[in-house]
Amino acid sequence: MTFRARFAPSPTGPLHLGHAYSALLGFDMAMREGGEWLLRIEDIDRQRSKPEWERQIYEDLEWLGLWWPEPVMRQSERAEVYSSVLNGLWWDDAVFECTCSRADILAAASAPQEGAPLVGPDGVVYPGTCEGNRSMGGLYPRRFPDAALRLNMGLTTQVTAERPVTEPAYLSFRETGAGPNGEKGLICVPESDLVRNVGDVVLARRGMGTSYHLSVVLDDAAQFVTHVVRGQDLFEATKIHVVLQRLLGLPTPVYHHHRLIRDDTGRRLAKREDAKAIRRYRDEGATPQDIRRMVGL
Ligand code: GLU
Ligand code: ZN
Repeated sequence: MTFRARFAPSPTGPLHLGHAYSALLGFDMAMREGGEWLLRIEDIDRQRSKPEWERQIYEDLEWLGLWWPEPVMRQSERAEVYSSVLNGLWWDDAVFECTCSRADILAAASAPQEGAPLVGPDGVVYPGTCEGNRSMGGLYPRRFPDAALRLNMGLTTQVTAERPVTEPAYLSFRETGAGPNGEKGLICVPESDLVRNVGDVVLARRGMGTSYHLSVVLDDAAQFVTHVVRGQDLFEATKIHVVLQRLLGLPTPVYHHHRLIRDDTGRRLAKREDAKAIRRYRDEGATPQDIRRMVGL
């Protein structure tokens, strides 16, 4: 099988040294294996994505000496794929409509009997308020078309006739990099951990028709990605990705989570930090080799 890595930036700001490291590392790994390095533009957030940032992504990556197969996949062109998958999940009763605001969720999750709100890879673990808003096995059409859709993690991980009790009660993925606590090798994700500490994650954000988790899983599969090279900040989110892969019958790629590039004070770089933008180093006369040196490659 050809080694296929990908880089999946969101065009919501300039690429900085952290992106450069991720892109260069994935590209080098793919080239060493005689494989391919793909580019995908993650522009589902139509409010924050801008054509000029997308243009600058291509420019910066070319300047770094990278190349990729065309055409580039753009998530904004895949709305129909996402919505047909979500429809299937709705009729299969795997998702429910959630009309809660952030404040509603925080209030319900911090109710006195709940203790301190539990925070998972996707923020506060959803307290289950709207879990009743389901298709009930295909009995009901959607009632709140604008509402968010959440995965019913409890139902999704339940033992059913299709998933007999002989199937192990955990999911797993292979990590060739490292998680934030040095996790590597075969990473096991118990279903109980998914229900308790991850919860009913959003698969379609209100008015967006999808979410990062759903799109990334569908698109990695559609692009036949074999190796996902990305920052350690997404290690915990991989638990969500493997449960979606099982639910949708998609293969689980190998994951390679890499260290994060930090600023001089030890904080990880954010999109806003223009100070570390590749563009800025270019303008100041740095070469691609300088960038490689700066990120330790
Ligand atoms: N689009 C995501 C970002 O800009 C990357 C997602 C991923 O690599 O899985 O952080
Ligand atoms: Zn809700």
